Order: sequence, then C-alpha cells, then structure tokens
Amino acid sequence: MKIHEYQGKEILRKFGVATPRGIPCFSVDEAVKAAEQLGGKIWVVKAQIHAGGRGKGGGVKLAKSLDEVRAHANAILGMQLKTHQTGPEGQKVRRLLVEDGADIKKEYYVAALTDRATQKVAIMASSEGGMDIEEVAHSTPEKIIKVFVDPLVGLTDAQAKELADGIGVPAASQAQAIDTFKKLYTCYMETDASLAEINPLILEGNGNIKALDAKFNFDSNALYRQQEIVAYRDLDEEDADEIEASKFDLAYISLDGNIGCLVNGAGLAMATMDTIKLFGAEPANFLDVGGGATTEKVTEAFKIMLKNTKVKGILVNIFGGIMKCDTIANGVVTAARETHLAVPLVVRMKGTNEDLGKKILAESGLPIITADTMAEAATKIVAAVK
Ligand code: GDP
Ligand code: MG
Repeated sequence: MKIHEYQGKEILRKFGVATPRGIPCFSVDEAVKAAEQLGGKIWVVKAQIHAGGRGKGGGVKLAKSLDEVRAHANAILGMQLKTHQTGPEGQKVRRLLVEDGADIKKEYYVAALTDRATQKVAIMASSEGGMDIEEVAHSTPEKIIKVFVDPLVGLTDAQAKELADGIGVPAASQAQAIDTFKKLYTCYMETDASLAEINPLILEGNGNIKALDAKFNFDSNALYRQQEIVAYRDLDEEDADEIEASKFDLAYISLDGNIGCLVNGAGLAMATMDTIKLFGAEPANFLDVGGGATTEKVTEAFKIMLKNTKVKGILVNIFGGIMKCDTIANGVVTAARETHLAVPLVVRMKGTNEDLGKKILAESGLPIITADTMAEAATKIVAAVK
C-alpha cells in the first residue's frame, strides 16, 4: 500500500525526523490560506499523487508571494500530472501540500528497504539526492552507500556514521544525520514498511538536516496490525477495478493485453499468463479467485474482467484441489449467462470432480470451448481472439 508525501511526513515527524512545516489542501483557497497560516516569504506548492518524479513533471513549484501560491495551486490542482511513474495517461491531482520553502544547501538520498539477498533491512544513502536513484545506481553506483542491519541490534551508531561519512555530511551536521538515519530505521520497522525513502534529505544553509520528500510502501500482509496506516489509504489513487476486486477478495491486477484470465492460485495464474504470451498473445489481467471461489465470486470476476473493453476473449484455467471443478463450472455458466457473455470463452479444468464440471459446461448450451492441457487452452483462446 502507498500513501501521499504529506502523510509520509506526518509519520516521519511522529518518529522524530525533522521535516518542513506544511499543510495539506484540497482547494486553491485552502492553499492560499495555508500559506498565510505558515507565514514567511517563500512557499512550495506540491502535487500529492502516489508517484514520484513530480518535480520534473511540473508538480512542485516555488512561490514567492501569496499570488504565486494561488497561481501555482490553480495550475497544479486538477492537472493530469505525468511522471515516469504514472504511465502516459498521468494521474489527476486532487490534493496539494503547501510547505515552508526550504533553504537547500545540499540534497542527499536515504532509504530503508528490505534486501532479499542478505535477508536484512538495508539503509541506502547517496550524495546524489533529488535525482532518480535508479539513474544513480546505473551510472555512478559508487555513489551509493549501503549498510545491512542486524535485526537483533538495530542500526548502530557506527553504521549510521559510515553512511553520513560516505555521503559527505559536514562534521557540524553529522549528529543530526546519524539521528535521522536511526529514526528512519525505527520508523521503517514499526510501521511494517517495505520502503521508506527520503529523497531529497537536505542540508539547510543553517546546517540542519530535514526530510524534504517522503515516500512509503507498506507490506499489505501487515496492514491488519497497522490501523493508522490503513486510515491513510486514498482510493482515488488506486485502480477502480482492483478496488472492486478486493471487495470480493479477488486478487486482480489489470494489464494491457486482450485475453482475460480467471485462474485459481497465484502460481497457476502466472503460468497461465506466461503460456498465453508463449502462444503469441497478451493477458488482459492477472486474476486469482483463490481457494474458496463461490458462484458469486466467479460472477463478480467475470464482470470485472468484462468491464475492460480491450478484453476479446476469456481463458478460465482451474486446478480442482480443495476447490471442486463442478463448483467452478456452475459459477462459469451462471456468470456467462448473467453477463451475456459475447466474447469467446475457453475453459480448462483438471482435478476434483473434473468430469462433473465438464458435463455441466457441455449441458449448459453455451458456446464454451473446452481444453485439456494448458497448451491446448492457450492455442484455442489465442486463435479465438485473432
Ligand atoms: P519528486 O519530484 O516527486 O520526488 O518531489 P520532491 O518533493 O522530491 O521535489 C522535487 C525537487 O523539488 C527537490 O529535489 C528539490 O530540488 C525541489 N524542492 C522541493 N521543495 C523545495 C523547497 O522547499 N525549496 C526549494 N528551493 N526546492 C524545493
Ligand atoms: Mg523526491
């Protein structure tokens, strides 16, 4: 799960990390009021979307008067902001963050993330803040410093100092940088984050260290014990079909192809998508109906897949283990009728009550194409949509 920058900064502040003062806003008037309330002479107006690279896309603007705050807020709010993380259609800006303008002397990068290779939390820092970290990793990997944290000990002073030295924090600001790194680690652990990134972490003219940006991802498997994080969820930033699917406990992810896939089990779903690709077509979605798919769930899954106008055919691939093939067959027949299915449908089912399932499909009178193997199923659906 992702959250907005202003929410990320609220979390950072809770853990004692210094950030600029700021106020989230939902309208242009609110933005001007926020700037008045903050006082000072310089503000920054920032688009709040669940994607990075906003600066380059025109979503972060400095304002030197209240009139400029108004003008920037007017331009950014409601814009379709395109960044390298939003895709070509961009993301509509519905929220703003108005902050005190910062006096930036130097921009650094720091992030906490899980390192699969060492099975530890890594703290990664760089002197090249404000830039795309993938770009730094690619062209100047020596400018990225990494330490791996022993879970029983936590981030040590020595490790935090190694990071601060490695990115060139001046002596007078080292204590603050070390403190910030340690707090970032604690924050990452206690919120069940899978990424906590501050880019840029800045050195101000007066020597203070501050988080100027905040990006968090959270492990969805831990959300049951992170009610404060769940409260930050912004459904406007999520795919409408994926939200609908999650209501029915369906794991659904929309993709760009034209073959809808309904499968039970994430592994089989991945294999099905690979097989479709192998036979020369592209899947329109990943959809795992899970172990306990009811007729209602299958019907909802069909409805969600068919909302996508790119879908020109559906492939159902079921392994009947705990789930019985006749249950799925009934679900498929009901769903096909209820949705007045007008695209070709290929069904492959194997396992428990397979014969019964096939009989239900055959006797339904619907033009369902059946297949025995994955290859046969993929060949048939690819041929049907072409
Ligand atoms: P991102 O592009 O989505 O990562 O958004 P950031 O919050 O990182 O902002 C992008 C860039 O805008 C930063 O790297 C800074 O260079 C600049 N910026 C952000 N806030 C301020 C500010 O208060 N003052 C100044 N001078 N620049 C800022
Ligand atoms: Mg940034």
